[in-house]
Amino acid sequence: MNKKEVEARITELRKLLERHRVLYHVYDKPEISDEVYDSLMRELENLEKNNPEFYSSLSPTVRIGGDTIDHFEKVIHEVKQWSFDNVFNFQELLDWEDRNLTILKKENIKETPTYVAEMKIDGLKVVLTYENGNFVRAATRGNGEIGEDITENIKTVKSIPLVLPEKISITVVGEAWMKKKDLERINKEREKDGLALYANTRNLAAGTLRQLDPKIVATRNIQIYAYDIEQLRLRDTEHSSAKCKTQEEELELLSKFGFLVNKDRKVCKNLKEAQIFYEKWIEKRHTEDYGIDGLVIKINERYLWDELGHTAKCPRGGIAYKFPAEVVATKLLGITVQVGRTGAITPVAELAPVLLAGSTVSRATLHNEDEIKRLDVRVGDTVSLRKAGDVIPEIFDVIKDLRPKNAKAFVMPTNCPSCDSKLSRIQIGKELSAALYCLNKSCPAQHLEGLIHFVSKKGMNIDGLGERIIETFHDIGLITDASSIYKLKKEDIEGLEGFGEKSAINIIASIENSRTVPLHRFLYSLGIRHVGEQTAKDIAKHFSNLKEISEAQVEKLSEIEGVGEKVADALVSYFANSSNQKLLARLIPNLKVTSEKVITDGKLFNKTFVITGTLPSLSRDEAKELIEKNGGKVTTSVSKSTNYLLAGIGGGSKRDDAIKFDIKIISEEDLKKLIA
Ligand SMILES: [Zn+2]
Repeated sequence: MNKKEVEARITELRKLLERHRVLYHVYDKPEISDEVYDSLMRELENLEKNNPEFYSSLSPTVRIGGDTIDHFEKVIHEVKQWSFDNVFNFQELLDWEDRNLTILKKENIKETPTYVAEMKIDGLKVVLTYENGNFVRAATRGNGEIGEDITENIKTVKSIPLVLPEKISITVVGEAWMKKKDLERINKEREKDGLALYANTRNLAAGTLRQLDPKIVATRNIQIYAYDIEQLRLRDTEHSSAKCKTQEEELELLSKFGFLVNKDRKVCKNLKEAQIFYEKWIEKRHTEDYGIDGLVIKINERYLWDELGHTAKCPRGGIAYKFPAEVVATKLLGITVQVGRTGAITPVAELAPVLLAGSTVSRATLHNEDEIKRLDVRVGDTVSLRKAGDVIPEIFDVIKDLRPKNAKAFVMPTNCPSCDSKLSRIQIGKELSAALYCLNKSCPAQHLEGLIHFVSKKGMNIDGLGERIIETFHDIGLITDASSIYKLKKEDIEGLEGFGEKSAINIIASIENSRTVPLHRFLYSLGIRHVGEQTAKDIAKHFSNLKEISEAQVEKLSEIEGVGEKVADALVSYFANSSNQKLLARLIPNLKVTSEKVITDGKLFNKTFVITGTLPSLSRDEAKELIEKNGGKVTTSVSKSTNYLLAGIGGGSKRDDAIKFDIKIISEEDLKKLIA
């Protein structure tokens, strides 16, 4: 063959192999045998090897896996990746619809939505980007805003196309999952090799996507069900072929494009139909090759979906309808007590390991002494354990008929298991706490938990310092407090039992990486009582640095949205404590804390906006962001205190309200002039 013929043959083989991939992996209707497929693949491999000028990074041959990488790059999602809100019963589902109908009515929309009920697969969300028809990137969902680049791993997945049949640019969202039989197969191999087993298909899928060697991923047989095309990305493009009027059309289009789409779904005229489908699947859920933890009910009509928009956390147009909690019985082998970071003592049930909702469970929290008394649970008892969604497993009942004769009631220890200080209940507001506390400020267990919290993902995110390592370093006195972490040197770690040069370098590198940190994560890492991740974010919007927060009075702090008096009190007393002050004085010089303060002196400062209708170029979320970035506020309904109604095409009663209240109605162009 001359070069021209070689090129033609390569092109032909790539097309042919892609066609048979779709027939096999998407439609489950192979037309050729595996042997023929493999021999075509080998022919292509040989041609490419001998003619490297025709190499393509998207050839079917790349599915065997490329070179090992050394880490995953971060990817900022072009469109924020939301997750759905949950409901657990039919009434809650109806309430969700009611809320939506109320919103639509306000916009003068009379139409009632229809729905698509899809399986909620127990896997991991992946975001796939195509440019001009070519697969260019895959990312994990991450925190919804930033994910990890797993492109090379996803290239090995046979249930997605590497080249689309049309030259369009789209972002496709799907769920990566593993078959139950692949879990069994892989665990059997790992058992032979003496490796830790994967607890469930979801862990296996997560572990597989995070492999640094794509060749291993290629052997794992990971699957992806595609379920969404990001319509937002299509708005300004001419790719009208990918614009769909309904969710069902979108799913059909995805399978036309060569994606694997789950056929177990149903278009429902109303929620009653969705309920029947749901009940059928509660029965059938274990019969499938994939794990299902519920249904996702989505409004079928795209324009209604868009009209409804988002709450602060999730899109209104869809909802996860979780299956009821699963329940198992197991034996309570013992009760241990744990000392938390705040000194709270938590009794923990040590259980005979049991499979629950797909995971092996051997521990469950018993919350506190009162809960143990309420359940009257005793060591040796057979207990009923349940789990709903991602919630921690809990004991909810004791099977008293099976109680051993000599079982004794559990008595909470009177002293701290770590430091032997006397335990007591503390005053929280007007009430006495349900939990017992160790009040010793230098209790080693509390100290250790505090350090684990400090380095945790939502805190300083020092991933080189896992719980076990922190514990070791704490025990041998290498880490005495949070600031001492930043004094660690490679030489301190290298040579310790179990630590070589490489692990020492990795630990130091991850400590170095953590030195630059956004204010909210630093604030969270301090472990101040009641200051969780969201509260830390809310506070960080109002201050440029920790010093400002530490100087703020209770009145000022409790004015912040999301911060009540309880939180404000906790903050003030934390910063008033002299040992905390000393710790911060040692800690802060090691860090570069970045401000997240929201501008309050922008051109739109103190102005309130309401948005209605479809704007010519901005989506509503974009318009909202633009207004907020310039110091303005966006509310949902027009009132006397509204300054501007930003109106596009359409929009209903809000315009009438604006006229009634004599509120200025402006266009997108006017808005841009205001901030220019
Ligand atoms: Zn203690």
